[in-house]
Amino acid sequence: MATTEIITCINCPVGCRMEVTHEGETVLSVKGNTCKRGDAYARQECVAPLRMVTAVAPVQDRETPVSLKTRTPIPKKLIDD
Ligand code: SF4
Repeated sequence: MATTEIITCINCPVGCRMEVTHEGETVLSVKGNTCKRGDAYARQECVAPLRMVTAVAPVQDRETPVSLKTRTPIPKKLIDD
């Protein structure tokens, strides 16, 4: 069964609102984007979203925690891990 989601492209300040129809991990259509970057973002975001992750972590023998950031975007579903 196909699902339609409305998402906003975050690749530039224009912020195009896009309608993405997909069936599971198969994207059937993307509408509303005005460039290829939006199409690629919509397909990634609806099927396997990625996020940069920042955090602070305690370090043994150190009073202040250390700031951390992933080197590349990681799958959103792995953030808690
Ligand atoms: S689809 Fe293209 S123009 Fe629209 S917000 Fe995304 S990057 Fe910007």
